[in-house]
Amino acid sequence: MQHSSIHWFRKGLRLHDNPALLAAAADCCRLHPLFILDPTSGQAGANAQRFLLDALRDLDGSLRAIGSRLFVVRGCPEEVFPRLFRAWGTTRLTFEVDTEPPTRRRDAAVAELAARHGVEVIQEVSHTLYDTERVLALNDGKAPLTYKRLLSLLASLGPPEKPAPALTQEHLQGCRTPCQVSHNTDYGVPTLEELGQDPTEVGPHLYPGGETAALARLDMLMERTAWVCGFKKPETEPTSLSPSTTVLSPYLKFGCLSVRTFWWRLHEVYQGREHSQPPVSLHGQLLWREFFYTAGASIPNFDQMVGNPICLQVDWDDNPQHLHAWREGRTGYPFIDAIMTQLRTEGWIHHLARHAVACFLTRGDLWVSWEEGLKIFEELLLDADWSLNAGNWLWLSGSAFFHRYFHVYSPITFGKKTDRDGAYIRKYLPVLKDFPTEYIYEPWKASRAVQERAGCLVGTHYPQPIVEHGAASKRNLGRMKAARARKALPPPRLPSSPPSTEQEPPSVPSVAKSQRKKPKIEQH
Ligand code: FAD
Repeated sequence: MQHSSIHWFRKGLRLHDNPALLAAAADCCRLHPLFILDPTSGQAGANAQRFLLDALRDLDGSLRAIGSRLFVVRGCPEEVFPRLFRAWGTTRLTFEVDTEPPTRRRDAAVAELAARHGVEVIQEVSHTLYDTERVLALNDGKAPLTYKRLLSLLASLGPPEKPAPALTQEHLQGCRTPCQVSHNTDYGVPTLEELGQDPTEVGPHLYPGGETAALARLDMLMERTAWVCGFKKPETEPTSLSPSTTVLSPYLKFGCLSVRTFWWRLHEVYQGREHSQPPVSLHGQLLWREFFYTAGASIPNFDQMVGNPICLQVDWDDNPQHLHAWREGRTGYPFIDAIMTQLRTEGWIHHLARHAVACFLTRGDLWVSWEEGLKIFEELLLDADWSLNAGNWLWLSGSAFFHRYFHVYSPITFGKKTDRDGAYIRKYLPVLKDFPTEYIYEPWKASRAVQERAGCLVGTHYPQPIVEHGAASKRNLGRMKAARARKALPPPRLPSSPPSTEQEPPSVPSVAKSQRKKPKIEQH
């Protein structure tokens, strides 16, 4: 039978390693590659939406080059599909498996609807290294709650599957994509304005979206063999002025880059060379991704505190002013404000910078719920990803996975370890650029004369610190202990000296590494 197929792109915005797209093209006389813009879903801000539109335009261009086109349709999938099935005479619907419970519920509804219309449904795994269902089945249906446990489960499955070949013109022999001259008007990729975004809201276009940019970035990185082989995440710097990690996260999130392709390219680079190992290596980073996907797929209410069985129940404060100041980079702590400014303008920040601001918002200083931080990250990050965002916020807020809650990042000393002169702060907060190095992390300590010389009066041109870090973090430590006692969790193994709120977390790179004890917890 020759099918009339719809391939439904959601994530997986690529032609390479896209087995569901290949399935759509097999025994097919008519192919409609489809993307549905659902106005009711997602909180993505202007930068992330620009990334998505870039990716859709790139996908349309690649499909065009092999004789097809992308159809962009607006609406809610449950309403869009019956109409398209009828109009296009569809007999087969293909899409990539999604692991997120809210999306799975939607996909189940669409699959049921397709069955009612006599449409065959094919779903293929390609967003994760492994089929999360298989991993969960190996662990009695439960998510592995430690990285070590995940690794032992994966060891029994062997290496991830090799990527599927990219869709080419050969796959489309005898298959056409019916297009009208009005295609661009009827099904073209909209502009940011058409999505209701103000184009002046977007920041510099540092990371253009799309498969072409993703593969070019991957090629560029894989040429740096020594860097790839020596990659140790804790040694990368949150304050470097150009990224010290790959920034492949937005491409992985939208599936412009296949994680399996990334994995196997790393494998090729590693061949015959000494290289770093999980959890700190680049393979190790992809396994963290797998870890949080597996957890997100099976733990109820993973992105919430209430009803989430692994989440510590905490009496977070409701403080909209503090939350707003954090979002806007107006906390009065230059390191925190510089990071939030980079996030708002560029849409990507280093992992340890995420650690610093997430700890500051929650258990460190402001005692605001991690769910509020998660929502703001969801809006501002180019790579905002349901499972990874929730899993990492759970970790950083000390709500799950991470129990050494007495390790609190100092908003003053943490950045100094890799950037004593504060070049990162001077870049993102030009109002502080003329402060002497001595005061760049604590401008409120400078005398009035120094502030005047720097052209910035604290309290007038730049805010006073929103809380006093020492006092706030001590108070919060007590609240955290109380929350854990209520939950009757086993007490953490405290260090022999009194816990210091100024301690750095284990994964922080240090200028005096030899003086520090080796971390006992998993690097994250
Ligand atoms: P690299 O170090 O180059 O790593 C390569 C890839 O491995 C990343 O692209 C990512 O896919 C994966 N990876 C690396 N670290 C992690 C991690 N800790 N957890 C899961 N996967 C990881 N990452 C997201 O992709 N989306 C999010 O919404 C997100 N929210 C986060 C929220 C908080 C509070 C924190 C602390 C971290 C969050 N991360 C998130 C994880 C991590 O910070 C980013 O994946 C990483 O910084 C992306 O940069 P990169 O591509 O250069 O990473």
